[in-house]
Amino acid sequence: MMEIIKQLTKFKNRKYNKKIEINLINDINNKIKANKNNEHLANEMWEIKTIFLAQNFYLIFIESLYKKQYYYAWCTLEKCELKINELDRHASEKIKDNYYFHFLKFQVKRWQAIYPYKLFTSPEFIHKKVRCSICNEIISPRGNCKHIIGELYSGEICYCTVEELELIGIAIVKNPVMKSNVIDPEGKNKNFSGLNMILNTLNTPFQYWDINYTKEFIPKKFITESSDSLCPCGSGLSYLMCCQRKNGCLIPHMQIIPYNQDIKNKLDTHLSIGLKISDYLYQKKYS
Ligand SMILES: [Zn+2]
Ligand SMILES: [Zn+2]
Repeated sequence: MMEIIKQLTKFKNRKYNKKIEINLINDINNKIKANKNNEHLANEMWEIKTIFLAQNFYLIFIESLYKKQYYYAWCTLEKCELKINELDRHASEKIKDNYYFHFLKFQVKRWQAIYPYKLFTSPEFIHKKVRCSICNEIISPRGNCKHIIGELYSGEICYCTVEELELIGIAIVKNPVMKSNVIDPEGKNKNFSGLNMILNTLNTPFQYWDINYTKEFIPKKFITESSDSLCPCGSGLSYLMCCQRKNGCLIPHMQIIPYNQDIKNKLDTHLSIGLKISDYLYQKKYS
């Protein structure tokens, strides 16, 4: 237990180590099992385990970005996000304040917004047979299971295991349930320069930064879109039907604002990099 706390505190200075992770997770899982009857203690251990995994996913994410494994990094970031969501719902303020939860919650969304991934497939299923992961009962209106999906029970999150399902269709969506279902993640048209720019400009990947969405006026002579392509202003109309008759076009523009120390000091810093990447025109919003 002491070792895992040490790892959590060292977050900004440690490297991901799979062997250490496996050992510590095994260890804490055994302790959770042994303390099943002490719900409070088991849940506290779950918090430690989950923030450790969230930190580790972030470390793997950064490592993969440096290696330019963008899609793998994206999928790892989603795993980090899922852990963050679980912690958001179930962890104590003490855990959140002490082990970089707020940093992760803030930054994961920003990294996702910089990615040039906008379209996803989303399979639609009818679940025919579903089991509760806590009591192993089949979930049905007349069943005995009283557990609620997503709730924490003695150090274990309740989820459902789908044993039989029927695929009814696949939709193409902008906000997928599974972010890993990107269409053409390694495609030639994908522009990752924003990610690299951020990585190369920050002093450390553990620094806070934010995105400032603005608009920039581009005179007509610099606009290369043809009449029937989408207007660069992002309206969704064709260029002909939108800004072509004007003397220029207001184009969405992203500014990356790194913070020197902490999110609280954001007004004191003036550093900013402009990013102008047509890929990001149809902006993503984060909450
Ligand atoms: Zn149950
Ligand atoms: Zn326009």
